[in-house]
Amino acid sequence: MARVPITEALAIETTTRSWVCRACGHTLIAADRNYKEGCLVWMRDPREVHRPLVDGAYTFAPDPDWVRILEFICPGCGHLVEVEYLPPGHPVTWDLQPDVDALVARYGGETS
Ligand SMILES: [Zn+2]
Repeated sequence: MARVPITEALAIETTTRSWVCRACGHTLIAADRNYKEGCLVWMRDPREVHRPLVDGAYTFAPDPDWVRILEFICPGCGHLVEVEYLPPGHPVTWDLQPDVDALVARYGGETS
């Protein structure tokens, strides 16, 4: 079994070619997919995360009509995997696309 750390929260298990949570070992999704698809998603109100600092029309809190805050959470343990700020309607980004074949060749596992 070879578990290659990719981020603080994520690793790739080369023997199963899958994303896993580093906190609990839960398998999220195949490593050739976007790991965010394997996470729970909590869409936060940006005014809740960045509370208004002053009263009035302009409070320094982000406008929810302009930004959404998505928290990606491990379904196995609830560990926060990633946070993404996106305009409403924008698709989730695919920020990590490691060369899985190269990881398997280096650390072991089934080659595709
Ligand atoms: Zn976990």
